[in-house]
Amino acid sequence: MSEKMEFQTEVSRLLDIVANALYTEKEIFLRELVSNASDACDRLRYEAIAKPELLSGDADFKIRLWFDTDARTLTIADNGIGMDKAALIKNLGTIAHSGTRELVQNLEGGAKKDVNLIGQFGVGFYSAFMVADRVDVTSRRAGDATAWVWSSDGRGSYTIDEALKDTRGTEIVLHIKDDASEFLIEERLKTVVKKYSDHIAFPILLGPGDKGVMVNAASALWMRPKADVTPEQYKEFYRSVSGALQMDEPWLTVHWRAEGAIEYSNLLMIPSMKPFDLYDPRRHHGVKLYVKRVFITEGVEGLIPPFLRFVKGVVDSEDLPLNISREMLQANPVIAKMSSAVTKKILSELEQKAKDDIKEFENFWALFGPVVKEGLYDAHNHREQLCRVARFYSTHGDGLTSLEEYVSRMVEGQEHIYYLSAPSVEAAKNSPQLEAFRARGVEVLFMTDAIDEFWLPMQNDFKQKKFKSVTRGDAELSKIKKLDGDDKAEDKAEDKSATENLLARMKEILSLEVKDVQLSERLVDSPVCLVAPESDVDINMQRLLKKNQGYEGMHQHILEINVKHPVIAKLQLLAANDAEASKELLRETTLLLLDQARIIEGEPLKNPGEFVRRLSRAIEKGLIAG
Ligand code: ADP
Repeated sequence: MSEKMEFQTEVSRLLDIVANALYTEKEIFLRELVSNASDACDRLRYEAIAKPELLSGDADFKIRLWFDTDARTLTIADNGIGMDKAALIKNLGTIAHSGTRELVQNLEGGAKKDVNLIGQFGVGFYSAFMVADRVDVTSRRAGDATAWVWSSDGRGSYTIDEALKDTRGTEIVLHIKDDASEFLIEERLKTVVKKYSDHIAFPILLGPGDKGVMVNAASALWMRPKADVTPEQYKEFYRSVSGALQMDEPWLTVHWRAEGAIEYSNLLMIPSMKPFDLYDPRRHHGVKLYVKRVFITEGVEGLIPPFLRFVKGVVDSEDLPLNISREMLQANPVIAKMSSAVTKKILSELEQKAKDDIKEFENFWALFGPVVKEGLYDAHNHREQLCRVARFYSTHGDGLTSLEEYVSRMVEGQEHIYYLSAPSVEAAKNSPQLEAFRARGVEVLFMTDAIDEFWLPMQNDFKQKKFKSVTRGDAELSKIKKLDGDDKAEDKAEDKSATENLLARMKEILSLEVKDVQLSERLVDSPVCLVAPESDVDINMQRLLKKNQGYEGMHQHILEINVKHPVIAKLQLLAANDAEASKELLRETTLLLLDQARIIEGEPLKNPGEFVRRLSRAIEKGLIAG
């Protein structure tokens, strides 16, 4: 008795999109189905280590393709793990992946080329409906006696029925659409398999029965010598391990074999596009672990550090026992050793890339820099290397700079590596706190990623130079000469008692708003700015905590004033005058300046209405006086 079942809503919607896609590269369905078949073989091979009886004598894994021009069918068969009834319903009737809803919305948005995303979201099987108007999947799970057939025209429902199948594995029959007849031509199929699936480690045989001819190389790509692998092959391998977008290519390919105390082969790649779930806490890295060519598992914790979680590819160990359980892997010392070596290797390749071509590196850094910097926070063993890889924008030119370059440009008397935390490079550039640094030719690094607030307090120094925030505590600039040699003038300009008096009055006015009012050595052109006290959390960090955790801190800022600024000079005069009008003007202007400092920090104003009224009054006065 055949049972009729409805697709999960998302599947139905996805199928609608897939079936109607005016998509030119329909051929990718074959890549998806062959890759599923290869996974199925991998999985059985792994399970058979503990239960050899599952193989029932047939350990010759293979994928077979044949077609029938009269019946207009193309069949893809494997002798892998197979699916029972429950697996067919779950795997081919629902979408488990959490990102799928977004994918469907994305595709419904009309962007045709996004059909490419199908692979990335783990719904590759459904791409069969690009070329077929009916798909029959007959499958028998290894070790089971019963086989099942799943059948659907891709329109809302499918049927499931018991079936006859002598051997384990899965056989997918595609009833080819009128406009997809090319997939009933031997040469065409051969070309497509070669193009996308040459790296598949199991033989792919094309042709009926025993007459199938092997069309792929059927040897693990990562075991082949570098010289024997073409860029095309690397690209296809990358696409299959990453389920990547058609237009995404590996940005960096690292292929090497480690021989020594432990032996392993690696083929690792860094994408040129950002994965959609890079910051999803459930995401694990995309590196597959093989043991002597047998696939064990993907994303083993401890193999690739989280700060390299965008790396894709394969690590194949000669030393791990084949029968190791997945649960025990993480604790195995071989994993830790490989991890450390693989991490070092990738970091040194990155270091080299940054040296060779900083422009190209800039693209990489824009996508993955914030992730790599996580290592500065939690990967002590790799910190030195990470410091050599990390790049920053700064007040020096428009491009990225390394810490080494920064240190080489430090000026006489400069003891610290100065940085400014800000929400963006643009905001950082306009920050008044930079003025005194500019006046002294002191370079300031811009820290614009949330993660910076975490590693900076921990990474105390680089080459014995301490990191110091320019928005926190004393700037310690007194030992560094100004470029225009105008240092003396500072003391003269100050009338100590008038300044003391102004500071006291402003403190009084702002007693509820700021922790203190102090003289600034940071400012040149601006009258005021806000800074964090040395002992407190830096300003940008407070902002992040507030945004991400709703944290309403008790921390108050310090308002710094620039005594050489004409506005502040005028305020000194006002502060010396006891007349009611002077007092009021001092109060008004002080509150206005505080709000100004808040705006430039990107802080919300406590009372925008008040601010606007004050500003209007000030403008009015200025206009009338002028
Ligand atoms: P993905 O392969 O990315 O998980 P698919 O939609 O292609 O997504 O397949 C869904 C699931 O169906 C697979 O994860 C797998 O469990 C199962 N499956 C697909 N094809 C086969 C096959 N040939 N043999 C066994 N299981 C398969």
